[in-house]
Amino acid sequence: MKVANFYPGPSRVYSNITEYIYEAYMDGIMSVNHRSEDFMNLMELTKKELREKLQIPADYEIAFISSATENWEIIAQSLTQKASQHFYNGAFGEKWASYAGKLTSTINTHFGINEELPTGDIAKKADVLCVTQNETSNATQVSMKSLKMLREENVGKIIAVDVTSSLGGVKLDFTLADAWYASVQKCLGLPAGMGVMILSPFAVQTAEKIGERDHYNSLLNILENTRKNQTQYTPNVLGIYLLYKTQQATKGIDYIESKLEKRMEEYGSFVDSQDQINYLITNEKVRSRTVLALETSRMEELKSGAKEQSIILGNGYGPWKSSTFRVANFPAIKNKEVEKLMEFLRSFTGVSAR
Ligand SMILES: *Cc1c(COP(=O)(O)O)cnc(C)c1O
Repeated sequence: MKVANFYPGPSRVYSNITEYIYEAYMDGIMSVNHRSEDFMNLMELTKKELREKLQIPADYEIAFISSATENWEIIAQSLTQKASQHFYNGAFGEKWASYAGKLTSTINTHFGINEELPTGDIAKKADVLCVTQNETSNATQVSMKSLKMLREENVGKIIAVDVTSSLGGVKLDFTLADAWYASVQKCLGLPAGMGVMILSPFAVQTAEKIGERDHYNSLLNILENTRKNQTQYTPNVLGIYLLYKTQQATKGIDYIESKLEKRMEEYGSFVDSQDQINYLITNEKVRSRTVLALETSRMEELKSGAKEQSIILGNGYGPWKSSTFRVANFPAIKNKEVEKLMEFLRSFTGVSAR
């Protein structure tokens, strides 16, 4: 690739993608019928690979849908009986709350970007608790420790978690929630066009108890199909194939997480070494491990300098649009690309190499 792409979504795709697309064409994958034996085998293998590489519990269901966004409606229509409570500090969590609010009753709990998840503040009538684990817009995260507290204090409630920009990069404890979801074009390093949903036995039971079947994407339809290794509608078969091949090639989430942590340390020691580029998020405990939001007063200069070097940085988001830039710390990004960015940032701020 000619550019080093650090945009946090759509983001850099795994470099062996071209090879896999060629294989998919040659093997007839792109035209396969989604009720055929060949497709069902592919779907079974893909789910098995994901389960193994991401350490998803054996009793959790995995389903493929069209995007992360689709889950906002699926959860509202098929898993929510009374109300969903939304905890958010950024744009994606807020959008989720707003779309859910059109379909069901919602309670909105906003918290600050440097604060931990306010787990003490649970509405009685909420039967679904919605958390954006990695808020891509401002580079904050909810720790597994906070999720654990939420889980322990709310037995009997469904916990739904948006992991769009962390699934595939961070080790998640799936037992701590019931409905996890992501898109493939962020941390999973694939072209856009597909979403992944991971459901606990409690989520499945709840969907069965509610029995909602009014939509093509009613959770019961999705579940019945995925259990047969099929999908309700004609899916992105190429996307499923690419997910299978790229996951098959990874060394698993423990390895990936430690690789990304090492890069976070490198970025951290750079930030510490100068005073022109700083973290937007000052509380280390809630700082995302897969997306960085960095603040500088020299934004325009930085952007044009990066562009000259063929480095694509993510723009800031919402209220932080003009004062921050974002850097994806996703596994598909190569070491040499990280090195290139570090070199650029060092020379931009006048820091000499170590
Ligand atoms: C990108 C993103 C979404 C939306 O993903 P789509 O693929 O556009 O549906 C939702 N939540 C978070 C946290 C995201 O980063």
